[in-house]
Amino acid sequence: MATKKRNGIIIPMQLKGNEIVEDLFKEISEEDIIEKNISINDELLINCSHELKTPLNIIYGAAQMIELSARNISDDNLTNYVNSIKNNCFRLTKYINHILDLTAIEAGEYKLNLERVNIVEVVEYVVQKIAPRIKEMGLNILFDTNVEEKYVIIDSELFGKSILNIISNAVKFSKQGGTILVEFTDYKTNIEIKIEDNGIGIDTKYLEKIFHRFGQVDKSLSRGSEGSGIGLKLAKAIIELHGGKVSAESKLNEGSTFSVKIPLGNKDTIHSLYKNDDVKVIDYDTINQLVHIEFSDIFNIS
Ligand code: ADP
Repeated sequence: MATKKRNGIIIPMQLKGNEIVEDLFKEISEEDIIEKNISINDELLINCSHELKTPLNIIYGAAQMIELSARNISDDNLTNYVNSIKNNCFRLTKYINHILDLTAIEAGEYKLNLERVNIVEVVEYVVQKIAPRIKEMGLNILFDTNVEEKYVIIDSELFGKSILNIISNAVKFSKQGGTILVEFTDYKTNIEIKIEDNGIGIDTKYLEKIFHRFGQVDKSLSRGSEGSGIGLKLAKAIIELHGGKVSAESKLNEGSTFSVKIPLGNKDTIHSLYKNDDVKVIDYDTINQLVHIEFSDIFNIS
């Protein structure tokens, strides 16, 4: 494969035709990245290229199968291939959106689309939507709340992405038979959404790192469930943009609890500054689409 050297690191030049290049970036180790001080942009490019490769190859394979078998294909097969194409398009969309959202937030250029929504209804709907597929994976997901409704001011689509990311991690890192608990608590002056799993857990020495770019704990552990390594960094940025905080507690082999807290009472919070009393009717189509995209690397909800 054609390569060129930059800062002493081998950078692949291009994909050759339709060849599936498994070891595209093999030459660059994590140590290299730290030692050779590759810029953040290069890191982003490298990690995302890794992540974009797999779905791209699958889309290509599915397209080839359709092409080859178009004349005598059975309907079932056709549906499978088309679903595979769609799901992998969602995967690409997810990673590309993550990069775009994170870049815009960090540049201070993201314009929140604030609305007054019943957050309990949104979170409960998401849990109900994914529950059947989670059950098929041999896991359980439960939702608990101390109130039936709570109206908060959020950019529901953006905020939804952060919660979905944390839930999807809980699913990815659960053990067979595991349970994920999504718990909403209204503390009046603030709200908390807790996502608890009894999965593989995170070693204390990595806990701080997971909210940073590419903070994957152990690639060998997480490879069964792939990821871009920027999901939690983006989730943190989104939650902070809403004036909130995210934190994690974990015990190795016992599980993890992520807590998202949004203040409501203080002056200067989004909640106090927003003057529009209109309530946004929840747009289930948008939430469905969001769930498809955010869970596309775990399962295909068709
Ligand atoms: P990724 O897309 O790789 O999952 P994230 O930023 O969402 O990236 O997560 C970073 C890393 O944090 C994961 O790769 C994993 O090592 C660890 N992690 C996140 N959530 C959990 C969890 N619930 N249980 C165990 N490990 C987790």
